[in-house]
Parts: sequence; C-alpha cells; structure tokens
Amino acid sequence: MTRRPLAWLEEELQTLDQLHMRRHLRTHFGPQTAEQTVDGQRFVNFGGNDYLGLAADPRLAAAAIAAIENEGWGSGASPLVTGHGASHAALETSLAELEGTEAALLFSSGFAANVGTITALAGKGDVIFSDAKNHASIIDGVRLCGARPQIYQHLDVDHLEKLIAQASAFRRRYIVTDTLFSMDGDFAPLVELCELAERYDAIVIVDEAHATGVFGQHGRGVCEHLGVEEQVDVRIGTLSKALGGHGGFVVGSQTLIDWLLNRARSYVFSTAAPMAASAAMIAALQIVRDEPERRQLLLERAANLRETLRKQGWQVGGESQIIPILIGEPEPTMQASHRLREQGLFVPGIRPPSVPSGESLLRISLSYAHTPEHLDRLIAALADLRQRLL
Ligand code: PMP
Repeated sequence: MTRRPLAWLEEELQTLDQLHMRRHLRTHFGPQTAEQTVDGQRFVNFGGNDYLGLAADPRLAAAAIAAIENEGWGSGASPLVTGHGASHAALETSLAELEGTEAALLFSSGFAANVGTITALAGKGDVIFSDAKNHASIIDGVRLCGARPQIYQHLDVDHLEKLIAQASAFRRRYIVTDTLFSMDGDFAPLVELCELAERYDAIVIVDEAHATGVFGQHGRGVCEHLGVEEQVDVRIGTLSKALGGHGGFVVGSQTLIDWLLNRARSYVFSTAAPMAASAAMIAALQIVRDEPERRQLLLERAANLRETLRKQGWQVGGESQIIPILIGEPEPTMQASHRLREQGLFVPGIRPPSVPSGESLLRISLSYAHTPEHLDRLIAALADLRQRLL
C-alpha cells in the first residue's frame, strides 16, 4: 500500500470547501495601484493596505534601484552576523527621528516584530493582558512567550481592570493591543489603558500597524493622535501598509532596542531583508514628512464616505480609513462582496473565523490613491446593493 500520511489534508480541505471557507490565492499583474488587473479582470481595489498610495510611487522604486546598484540585492546574513547594511542603519535612524524615540529596530516583517518583541519581553512568572481582537501575530507572541495569557473583551477597559486588579502577584504585568483594529477600524482606548498601566504597574506594548503614516500630526500613529506616546513603553509598527513596502519595526528607548537585538528570536535568527527594501522605506518616510496632505485627505474622504453610507442605511463602524459595513451573516456578506466584484469593485467580505459569528462584514479599505470617481462608483454600487440585496 502506498504511504499517504497527508491524506487527511484532502479531507480537511473538502470540509473547508463545503463550509465555503476555503481560500484561494489571486494573482495581480502590474504594480499595486488603486486599479488592478486580477486574474484577468480589472478592479478598483478596496481591499489593500496601501493607505497613502505609496506602494507604486516611482520615488520608492528609484530609491530601491539606486540601493541595488550600490549595495546589491541580498543581505547575506542575519543582522548580528554580517547582514546589517548601511541602508538598514539609515532607515533605523530615520524611523527613530520620525517617531521621536531614541532608537529603532528593523524586523523582516510586522509579524516577526510582534512575535519577537512579545516573546523577548514577557515570560514565565508574568501575566499578559491581550485585547480579544488583537492581530494573529500578537496572539502568537502571547501564546509563545510563556507568560499567563489573559484575554479581555474588545476595548473593554472595565473587564481589563477586573482582571488586572487581581494580578499583583505576578512578576510583571503587560498590556498588549493593536492601536487601530484591522477589521473594525476602531481605536484601542489608549488613554484609559495607560491609566490602568500606571495604576497597576503594567508595561504597555502597542502595534501601530494600520496607523503608522496615517494618524497623528507627524504620522506616527494613534499614540501620537491620542497624546499617549510618553506612557506607551513599546511601539511596534509595520512598513507594509501605509508606507507601501515591507518589513516591521520597533521604536523606543536605546535600552529596549539593545535588549531586543539580543533576545528577539525572529530578529536574531532571521536573515536581514534586502537593503534596497530599506532604501525605499527611507524615501517613504520622507514623503510622510513632506506630504501630510496625503493622510489628511485620506481621513477626510473616509469620514465623508462613512457619513454617506450611513445615510444609505448601512450599519457602518470605525473611525479611520478602514470602514467596516456590518452585515451579520456570512452568506449575504459574501453575496454582497460578489455583486460588487461583478461591477469591478473589490471589497472583501470578512466572515468567521476572521470575525466572530454574527459579525460578518464588508471591509472597505481606503487609499489616498483612490480617485473621487472610484469613490463615486463605490457609493453608487452600494446604494444599488442596499435596494436589491438586503
Ligand atoms: N499587525 C497587524 C495589526 C496587522 O494587521 C498585520 C498584517 N496584516 C501585522 C501586524 C503584520 O504585519 P506584516 O504584514 O508586516 O507582517
């Protein structure tokens, strides 16, 4: 008999098929712009995270090409061995400058930054409080780190206080949260979380993945927007969303960065990203500095769109460039997404397990790169959908 130890995967995949939960890759051709050709069809993309429209900006490409010519492509090793190039160092300086911190450390992705940072800081004998809707990379860091995990209900400061008030016996207490939640588009109550941290002697770690470049006077994120930068101990971010590139980072004190570069396993044991990727991100940070109108216009358009959709009768959430339309059940959600796709508008339907049961939603992700005409098309299609489907 032929040995087929992975045959169970076929059965599992069939089950996913039956539940309409199996996912498939779609390939796009050409640059990541507001309009894309995916598997042969032209779409306006309301599903990406290129919030400032920088992913296809020629200035980023030119910076990367120049760096390839000077530094080559591959970094050749992990940073602590021989992989830390001049462009990596320059980007770390640039990030610390933008973020107003002593130092910054680059990781190969935002996912690696979250897992590496949490596991390097929290451990046995500690307790870590994590928002129920935190990103998968935070969840994995929390699971791996060895501290006692305590999940508090989404944004629920009272629930967190009940839990943290009983945690004085632990060696250290950590609170970890996304600052801008990627599905609901809402903010963590950072002011209240920092007050609790102060009162119960906890360390605050935040992930600004969706907020870097978009919120705050300098584009540093929700901590800047809500005025809690001084109270937040560890700020993690990604270069892969508003900054239009790839890679993750942590900013904070020099001591924090020195510890992480010694102890974060996803940093120590992983090859540094190509130098050119950092060179492109230096150009992106310069644009964030020089062109604040990008984030201002994006947030203005998002506020207007939320308002318009509410007037159409949709249940619209969030307070950011991520605009969820709550539908409820998975089937009408996917139907709605499908109808929009037929009209050349890519608006992903999000259903369990990505969101809790009964909270399926259409997730509109706005970019500076969308034109007023793209938005008009979306508004008209949603008005029509409101009449027909629901
Ligand atoms: N944190 C959050 C909140 C995210 O949404 C993501 C990406 N979806 C990440 C971290 C991971 O970042 P990256 O894509 O750079 O690995």
